[in-house]
Amino acid sequence: MILETADIKSVLTSSNTTQKMYINGEWVLSESNQTSNIVNPANGELIGTVTVGTEEDAKKAIEAARKAFYENGWMNSRARDRSELLLQISNKLEERKEEFAYLETLNNGKTLRESLGDVEDAVNQLRYYAGLATKPHGQTFDVPDDIQAMVVREPIGVVGIIVPWNYPLVMANQKIAAAIAAGCSIVVKPAEITPLSLIRLFEIIDEIGFPPGVVNLVLGSGRKVGAELVSNPNVDKISFTGGTDTGIKLMKSAADTVKKISLELGGKSPNIVFADADFDTAVDYALYAIFANQGQVCSAGSRLLLEESLYEKFVPELVRRAKMIKIGPGWNDGIEMGPLVSEAHMNTVLNYIEIGKNEGATLLCGGNRMIEGDFGKGYFVEPTIFGDTTPDMRIVQEEIFGPVLAIQTFKTEKEAIELANGTAFGLAGAVFSQDGAKAQRVIRQLRAGITWINTYHPTFNEAPWGGYKQSGIGRDLGTYGFEEYLETKQININLKVEPSGFFEGQ
Ligand code: NAD
Repeated sequence: MILETADIKSVLTSSNTTQKMYINGEWVLSESNQTSNIVNPANGELIGTVTVGTEEDAKKAIEAARKAFYENGWMNSRARDRSELLLQISNKLEERKEEFAYLETLNNGKTLRESLGDVEDAVNQLRYYAGLATKPHGQTFDVPDDIQAMVVREPIGVVGIIVPWNYPLVMANQKIAAAIAAGCSIVVKPAEITPLSLIRLFEIIDEIGFPPGVVNLVLGSGRKVGAELVSNPNVDKISFTGGTDTGIKLMKSAADTVKKISLELGGKSPNIVFADADFDTAVDYALYAIFANQGQVCSAGSRLLLEESLYEKFVPELVRRAKMIKIGPGWNDGIEMGPLVSEAHMNTVLNYIEIGKNEGATLLCGGNRMIEGDFGKGYFVEPTIFGDTTPDMRIVQEEIFGPVLAIQTFKTEKEAIELANGTAFGLAGAVFSQDGAKAQRVIRQLRAGITWINTYHPTFNEAPWGGYKQSGIGRDLGTYGFEEYLETKQININLKVEPSGFFEGQ
């Protein structure tokens, strides 16, 4: 899976070409006339130039989506037709999966094997929702009187989809697939710094030919373009993935129009390892939990909760293995960790490392930006592990979103559960133990939406993805993720058509 430099360039659109937004079935430049440079985080090289949208552009896209849905018949489109469109996207994406994977690695920094996994996931999401679109939904009720009572599910309308930079293709794709399957029209906004794979997905969407206005892509800042999607009364629902602080702002703004909203937010997830866990498995997954995608994973196991009696044996092995992780540009063979997504984000992560040191935690390994040779051109940070933490420390409570692990220790099952639930978040969590009953007991006490026993990270498009507490509202994926794009209508049909006699006077 190595491409030569020349081939890497062939994956990219020339940076002399300004990449456009897709509004009402057409590729358009923003009226702002501004462009933004997209940078490869592994070496700082320019890999693309994109138009920078404005509130006006967002309004045009919303108007197009509204017209497509309410006036031009998409609202009554057939499930079979929508299913077919999604299958066509999935097939074309699958044919080009290596190209998409390279593009994702060049823009986001993640390793090629992770990008390839993302593209395969995206293909599967499209197929899953293509199937679900035509499956039965709705209910009928046996009620008193001569009434046939039923429930039908209808598309919610115009959906604004706003996504972050850590899974640029997959996060948008899962929402697009579910919303289209449900019959909505959509306006999608990627993160400012990682738009390339989504622009290319829209090239496929354009080739297939949806009715104009059904699927739209806007580019630009969250503050302007994203905020317009959230506040605009002509958007019926917002589906958002991103940080908790942003989610709070969105929820306040959406309240003004009582807009339906689903939020997939941040996490600070506990990975609980009991002394009776399979040792090698637990060490292996503790690393994978935090260092996959450089720790830029909402569900990352960023807190390792270790039974105290295991500490002396476990931590040296964990540190030894962390130091062996192969770091470099994500497209190189054998690389296990790439750069962080941007210089700004790298600085945020490095700042948290300083905070950890100042709070009195013990730095067990890592802690630095890598600057030797070519590393200095990119935004690489060493795998970092802190011991001797206390529950009140910021590095224990706040989402760092980088390769930084905080170790906490516990003596009893009760203490493990208290520590695990002791943050504002509730996205994910895991338990490692060979005592099956104990593992299940503890998992059932975790206030989190995505959990594992004796593993970390595997999740499937069939199952709901989302968090408790400040990790969000609603769910992506599975049938739950489909429901997010549907309204619920009851219909009562009189089977005995005659006056009710409620008022006596005729
Ligand atoms: P972010 O909140 O800064 O940005 C996410 C998106 O929101 C971007 O497209 C951004 O342009 C837009 N945005 C920003 N301000 C906005 C506003 N005022 N109005 C409307 N849109 C706005 O998040 P990020 O830094 O891109 O991503 C990292 C965060 O995403 C982490 O907190 C991570 O945990 C979270 N995340 C959560 C999940 C999940 O499924 N729960 C998955 C991936 C990432």
